[in-house]
Amino acid sequence: MTDLTNMMKDKPQIGVSACLAKQPVRFDGCFIANPFVNNECSEFFDLHTICPEVEMGLGIPRPVIQLRDFDGEVRLVFSKNPEKDITNEMREYSERKLDALPPLDGYIFKKDSPSCGVFNVAVKNDKTGMRKRNGIGIFAQAFKDRFPEVPTEDEGRLNDKGIRENFLERVYAHYRWRQIDSAVNPLQAFRDFHKNYKLILMAKDNTAYRQLGRIAASVNKNNFMQVRQEYFQLFMQAMSKIPSQGHHVNVMMHILGYLKDHLNKKDKIELLEWFETYRENRVTRITPLSLLQHHFNRHENEYITEQYYFSPFPGKLMLPQ
Ligand code: SF4
Repeated sequence: MTDLTNMMKDKPQIGVSACLAKQPVRFDGCFIANPFVNNECSEFFDLHTICPEVEMGLGIPRPVIQLRDFDGEVRLVFSKNPEKDITNEMREYSERKLDALPPLDGYIFKKDSPSCGVFNVAVKNDKTGMRKRNGIGIFAQAFKDRFPEVPTEDEGRLNDKGIRENFLERVYAHYRWRQIDSAVNPLQAFRDFHKNYKLILMAKDNTAYRQLGRIAASVNKNNFMQVRQEYFQLFMQAMSKIPSQGHHVNVMMHILGYLKDHLNKKDKIELLEWFETYRENRVTRITPLSLLQHHFNRHENEYITEQYYFSPFPGKLMLPQ
């Protein structure tokens, strides 16, 4: 199946909240040694560590800051001195920093931070003192606004197997997409990209799969720049979906069709039984996929061999089973 190491000239580029990568930049001068960031991510990605609060000049140590809701307007302020509003400074820093960043394929943010948190950050109501977990850090928001197609996650959510898998699929898709520009024939590289993602798209979003197929079929050297942007927006939206077991079984049935002339009845029944065992959540997807792979090793099929469905990213990046 697709060999990731052979096709990649360098590594995916990932932004990381600096405190997750053992840099002592937190308000109290400490760090958080996130094992995924410091082990697997360091091995497979080029990491770009960023601490917005230190880089904008708040210093170490520094007073704690928070998001606070003033009559519906969320501002970044010092927790013990809420008149001191640093929202504009953080926004200005963010724009400058984002201007200077190299192209990134993903970003892992520190959870709960009023600067870096990307999901459910606490926002304190100035009048009632109540906290709602519905905010997003100011730097994280600026990043998402500037780079809507770049996958972002928070370190806490990456401990969920499905969320981690989805994040990694999108990181590697984004990375492979960037390789199109440096290809000898970018138009052909775009067509290959679409072809090799077909089975993943089929699993994630059948409607988008058909729409993307129509867009890819319409591309030519005159409309390439315009069509590729339209394609990529829809592609990354489809990639953000997490397919059900049933959707994966549909794709595996489709793959089985490519073996129909090669397998005997006993082999087909064995595969179908494993598909059902997977659908019932009694084994992981690796089991039926490995068996399919075993059969394709003996009955090679170029289209299937090149599909990223079997290896969207290096398996070592996943959580242990
Ligand atoms: S969460 Fe962000 S701003 Fe806070 S210490 Fe970590 S990198 Fe710096």
